[in-house]
Amino acid sequence: MIAHEFWENGYFTTDAVLLKTVPNSDFNRLLYFLSPLVGIETCFAFGAQKIKSRFCSTTQPFTILRLFLRRDKKTGLIGVKDVANVVTPEITRINLRAIYQLSFYSQVLLHTPMEHIDYKKYYYLMKYSIELLEMENGLEKSLIFFLSKLTVLHGQTMQASSCRECAAAGRNNEIFYSAGAWGFFCHEHLAGASSGIFKISAEDAAIMDFYSTARFTAISTTSLKLHDSVTVTRILIDIVNKIYGFAIKRDWYENLI
Ligand SMILES: [Zn+2]
Repeated sequence: MIAHEFWENGYFTTDAVLLKTVPNSDFNRLLYFLSPLVGIETCFAFGAQKIKSRFCSTTQPFTILRLFLRRDKKTGLIGVKDVANVVTPEITRINLRAIYQLSFYSQVLLHTPMEHIDYKKYYYLMKYSIELLEMENGLEKSLIFFLSKLTVLHGQTMQASSCRECAAAGRNNEIFYSAGAWGFFCHEHLAGASSGIFKISAEDAAIMDFYSTARFTAISTTSLKLHDSVTVTRILIDIVNKIYGFAIKRDWYENLI
């Protein structure tokens, strides 16, 4: 519910990212959007299911736009009156992997309980994750950025490049993530754990730490590339999944690893 204070004579304008769209009857489309002002809300794009509608192409998932909303006095239904500043990521037209990634981000955000002081942070997390897709090495940048910054937003930043027990950097250029102990260790301090262990290079661990701490502009221009992005992704998904109390479903991300 968009709070009363935001409406002005039945109108409300906000920047937004569309997270999900669902056909509603043959004509209308229900939009789930993330706004820096009101968090995740829904509205209708009336007539958007019709190919001739000007809202048909502008109200696709993962579009960044400005929504001009109107609340009907009688029914209370919220509809899109107009849109502006529409940015549809080009890569989603040609790259299925990009769509898988964006669908994953959307699922995670739709299952994120948000306090209103966090709306803006989550909005920019999604917006920047979409923008990174278009850059060089964009698929990797976007995914590692999204997962790392999501962890940071939950206050769970982990040092990947040093052992939790002895703070030593990985010997033999190796560092281990233990899913059971939920942390990073040198070989000695793995302490015999045998399952749920992921080995990464010290370089990849340093890149993970870079993504946790660096700003968007530094990440967007970096030429750093992971050696083993699949393992790093698995580690980050495990970390996020624990933060979310194992609510992250496998079918949201199985196409990514
Ligand atoms: Zn150690």
